[in-house]
Amino acid sequence: MTPAITSRLPHVGTTIFTVMSALATEHGAVNLGQGFPDFDCDPALVDAVAAAMRSGLNQYPPMAGVPALRDAVSAKIAALYGRHYDPGSEITITAGATQAIITIILAIVHPGDEVIVLDPCYDSYEPNIELAGGTPVHVPLTPGTFEPDFGRIAAAITPRTRAIIVNTPHNPSATVWSAAHMARLAELLRGTDILVIADEVYEHMVYDGELHQSVARFPELAERSFVVSSFGKTYHVTGWKVGYVAAPVPLMAEFRKVHQFNVFTVNTPVQHGLASYMADASRHLALPAFYQRKRDLFRAGLAATRLRVMPSTGSFFQCVDYSAVSELPEADFCRWLTTEVGVAAIPLAAFYKGGFEQRIARFCFAKKDETLQLALTRLAKL
Ligand code: PMP
Ligand code: GLN
Repeated sequence: MTPAITSRLPHVGTTIFTVMSALATEHGAVNLGQGFPDFDCDPALVDAVAAAMRSGLNQYPPMAGVPALRDAVSAKIAALYGRHYDPGSEITITAGATQAIITIILAIVHPGDEVIVLDPCYDSYEPNIELAGGTPVHVPLTPGTFEPDFGRIAAAITPRTRAIIVNTPHNPSATVWSAAHMARLAELLRGTDILVIADEVYEHMVYDGELHQSVARFPELAERSFVVSSFGKTYHVTGWKVGYVAAPVPLMAEFRKVHQFNVFTVNTPVQHGLASYMADASRHLALPAFYQRKRDLFRAGLAATRLRVMPSTGSFFQCVDYSAVSELPEADFCRWLTTEVGVAAIPLAAFYKGGFEQRIARFCFAKKDETLQLALTRLAKL
């Protein structure tokens, strides 16, 4: 008989993304739930990876990642955000942002430490903190606007606070932090030893001519921050699971101690392919225009429905308030929308600890125009 084990994560089930994607497939719904593109990446990127494989780049790369890719990441951060990270000692390539974040948390959180997360937040943060023996401290973003409430964040800080996780552009609200928000954060953390985990996976999806406010732009914050990004989002290859972390030497040294024992290193040919593809900066610089057009197309269609369209200034998400359409709680509404209307969405409640009185659903617009049009035709009937 299999021995019984006590769960390390007793409250965790299957992620909402997996659940909604399965429901969408089962009911033939247009899947605007889980965040991934339904179009292919640039064939030039596939060619670059295939060329690396064919030329024999198929064995373990260095633990911290292929040097050419770390050089490319360093150059990109310097060009966009003005901070130099040493590719040798301050950048590590990871198996996506997911592995980057859990590795950071395992490297810095001791049992009993507290980590502040801002709700709604990405679903992996809380279990990651719990696995490290830490305590997640949930602070809500301002209802309605999703702006950080620095008064509440300040009130949540205790002598046990080890870190705060900041995600901009934000999943699921599609809002972005301003330079003023970053300045407030710097002010709040000044004189403390609190670290920042900056989840910036949507860094290249900021719209309307605004700039992404990376913590790397703010020297005082950068000194205490791990910056996380994901090639999956930037190059339309979410299934490749490759990302990176940039952090000052003392933080990165601890990160690598854990990284070497939870993945050791990441897929070699994909790293080489990404390095050569990234050399052309126009590829990531073109992303805001590419996604802004899709966002605008989707928003224009939604404006003709009974859903209330909320702001979307970054990421590839669009939230809607459906209170004019239904009284159902969010999870029930999203199920109903998937099974009866044929469009899958994600309930915002899935990103909150406990209940929250609002009627908001998240759509992903990283889809072919025809996919968006089909979804809009169905939503127009609501
Ligand atoms: N953080 C956020 C906010 C995300 O939306 C995602 C995407 N799933 C991730 C982290 C994980 O990224 P990756 O697929 O590179 O692991
Ligand atoms: N980040 C994606 C989202 O928010 C999904 C990632 C996942 O399926 N874990 O939809």
